Formats: sequence, C-alpha cells, structure tokens
Amino acid sequence: MDHMTRVAVIGAGLGGLTVAGLLQRDGFAVTVFEQASEFWRIGAGIILGASTAKVLRRLGLEEALVQTGIRPDAFVSRDVATGTVLNDMPFDAAAEARFGGAFVNIHRADLHRLLLSRLAPRTVRFGHRLLGLDETGDGVRLSFADGLVAEADIVIGADGIRSVVREAILGHEPPRYVGKVAIRAVFPRARAPGVPMRDCTKWWGEDRHVLAYFMTERRDECYVMAAIPDDRWDADTPPAPGSRDTFLDAFPTAHPELRQLLMATENVSLLPICDRPRRDVWSSGRTVLMGDACHAVRPFMAAGGAMAIEDAAVLARAITTFDEPEQAFARYAAIRIPRVGDVQRISAENSWLRVPGETDWFFGYDPFAAPVDRAA
Ligand SMILES: Cc1cc2nc3c(=O)[nH]c(=O)nc-3n(C[C@H](O)[C@H](O)[C@H](O)COP(=O)(O)OP(=O)(O)OC[C@H]3O[C@@H](n4cnc5c(N)ncnc54)[C@H](O)[C@@H]3O)c2cc1C
Repeated sequence: MDHMTRVAVIGAGLGGLTVAGLLQRDGFAVTVFEQASEFWRIGAGIILGASTAKVLRRLGLEEALVQTGIRPDAFVSRDVATGTVLNDMPFDAAAEARFGGAFVNIHRADLHRLLLSRLAPRTVRFGHRLLGLDETGDGVRLSFADGLVAEADIVIGADGIRSVVREAILGHEPPRYVGKVAIRAVFPRARAPGVPMRDCTKWWGEDRHVLAYFMTERRDECYVMAAIPDDRWDADTPPAPGSRDTFLDAFPTAHPELRQLLMATENVSLLPICDRPRRDVWSSGRTVLMGDACHAVRPFMAAGGAMAIEDAAVLARAITTFDEPEQAFARYAAIRIPRVGDVQRISAENSWLRVPGETDWFFGYDPFAAPVDRAA
C-alpha cells in the first residue's frame, strides 16, 4: 500500500504501539485511538523472549529495552512444595547468540513508555473509545463514544481481549474465563531481606503456580504472579484488591523460600484469567485484528505480549508489501496463525519450560524472516 494510506490503529497497547511505530517508520500516516485518557503505571511485569528484542531492534529500542529491564541469568523451574529444581535454562551470551536476541523482563509501563517514545507527537489520541465501524466502499468510518467520527483507509484492531473491532468482524463472543484467578504483587526487595531469589523463577504446583522475578537490573523490586483455581469468578468479575493472605492461603505448604517471599507481598491485586478459543478469521475487508483482539492466550507461557509484538512486525511488512488490504491481511494471517496456534495450545497446557525441552522454535523466531512477498 502506498504512503497515502490512512491507517487507524485502535488501542495503544503493546501491539498497537508497535505496529504504529513500524508503519510510521515506513512513512505511513498512522493515528492510534486509545480509550484511556492517559497511561498510568499499573503494577505488573512482563517477560519477553528474543523475538521481541528483534522487533524493538527495528524501532531502535533494543538497547533501551535491555537497559531498562533485566536480562535474567536463567529461567528456573522449581517444585512448589519441595523446591526441587526441575529446569534451569541459562540466558547467557550463548543463548542470546543462538536465539538472536536477549530475553528481557521489564515493567509493563516502562515498555509502553519506550514504544510510545518512537511515535511522532500526537500520534496517539487518548480518550477515544471506539463504539463501532462501517466500511464505506473505499474506506472505513469509525465512531467513538465521545462523538468523534473518523475516516481511515485501513483499520487495525489492537484493542485487546474485549475488542470492539473483533466484535464488528466476528459478532459478540465474550472472553472465556479459564477457571483461574491471577494474584499479582509488586513490592520492594527490601521487604524480603535474606530470602533467596533468582532472577526469574516459576514455582510449579499440581493445579497452580507462582512466577517471581525482577523487572530491572537493580533487583530492588520484586514482581510475583500466581494463578490459582477458583470457580467463583467469571470473565466479567472486575479486578479486585487482595492481600498477602490471598497468596499465603493459596500456598499453605509451599517451600520455605517461596513462603517467605509471599509473606513479603503487598499491594496485592486479583483478576480473572481469560482467553479465547482459537478462531482463524483475522480480518474482513479493510479491517484486521492483532494481538489479544484476535488470539488472547492464557498467560501461562508468558507469550501473549510477544505474540502481539510479533504480529505487529508481520502485519507492518504485509501492509508495506501489498497494494490491496485483503491480500496483505490474508498473507499476514497465513504466516501468523500456525505460530500463534502452537502458542495458544501450549499456553493452555501450562507446560512451557517446566522441564528442559526444545525451545529454539519459540525463542529463535524472527518475524522479519518469513517471506511476505507475492511470490511466496
Ligand atoms: C496476569 C497476566 C500476565 C501476563 N504476562 C505476560 C508475560 O509475561 N509475557 C507476555 O508476553 N505476555 C503476558 N501477558 C499477556 C499480555 O499482557 C497480552 O497478551 C498483551 O498485553 C496483549 O497486547 P495487545 O496490544 O494485544 O492488547 P492490550 O495490551 O490489552 O492493549 C489493548 C489496548 O486497547 C485499548 N482499548 C480497548 N478497547 C478499546 C476501544 N473500544 N477503543 C479504544 N481503545 C480500546 C485498551 O485500553 C488497551 O490500551 C500476561 C497477561 C496477563 C493477564
């Protein structure tokens, strides 16, 4: 598509900001519409594999990513009760060379800030909640809750698990509650003096787990996230505050090192974990979906954000390559569906990295390598 193409991105999440940055870099006129009135520092971390580093490299952000977050020395799996180490996968220089980039843990708000820093001023228009869209033949008309009506040549739905753009394409389908609640906390390391803590550890129980890691090289702030079964919740239950006891009650017989860490938690919050069943319809006409809007996964493989960022790279390449939106969107979906399908399946199994196994296919993936050209 040529650079006169007006691109509207709905949602300034990880996927939306990334695709906007890549398309803007290629000369497209991009506007991002975000329902929130501003960004704020929500307390949560995110784990990102080498494929994300490859995309941020294109945006000139790889160094900042590494400097802002932490390159954990390893991903460690331990049994929740005995503490037995089940896996200790090093993320050393050799692993980085093999995968083609760093494995980074970072605070989500810091990642947002980095992605936003690559956009031209006023690219993101805050306070605009999309209500619906209509194809007009040679474009798309977008209607927002505040009365704004905007026109675009193509629309990218990056509006997350409750996507309005998805609803316009596929009809109303509520997200699926997976029967587990996420308990999350960010707290100063100083609250757990003397408690041993590796850079990134997943503690595995039979029907529940805990992930604990640092989000900066300073290692002065801990992020802990647990997933526990709870049938009293559903997809519409709003996030709620929890407490240290929510963690402790969920892991009464945990290994002492984990118990001590959980005892140090504060600012605890709960939210229902949801995903969506796989649907392989990712676009219609001039409108296309990406990230959680089309393939929300369970956060048990720590891959949903990475999938959104990889989508952004492949979608931007397809938009740049093809003249017709339908061709671009079909090629993008054909490249992405098999990979995302594997990630959806493994995320649902909750088996990733529990024990040593083949990881090159996941960490070594390069979203700039798959051929997007017509000949392919
Ligand atoms: C507990 C938990 C832990 C996770 N941990 C990891 C991890 O370690 N690693 C990883 O890779 N992934 C992780 N994920 C998954 C990851 O957070 C998501 O997959 C990722 O944020 C999806 O990005 P996105 O851009 O598609 O959507 P989002 O980040 O959800 O962004 C969507 C944006 O669209 C906006 N929006 C929504 N509706 C509208 C509308 N109607 N109009 C305008 N704007 C709208 C929203 O306000 C939001 O800014 C985790 C998820 C959870 C729940």
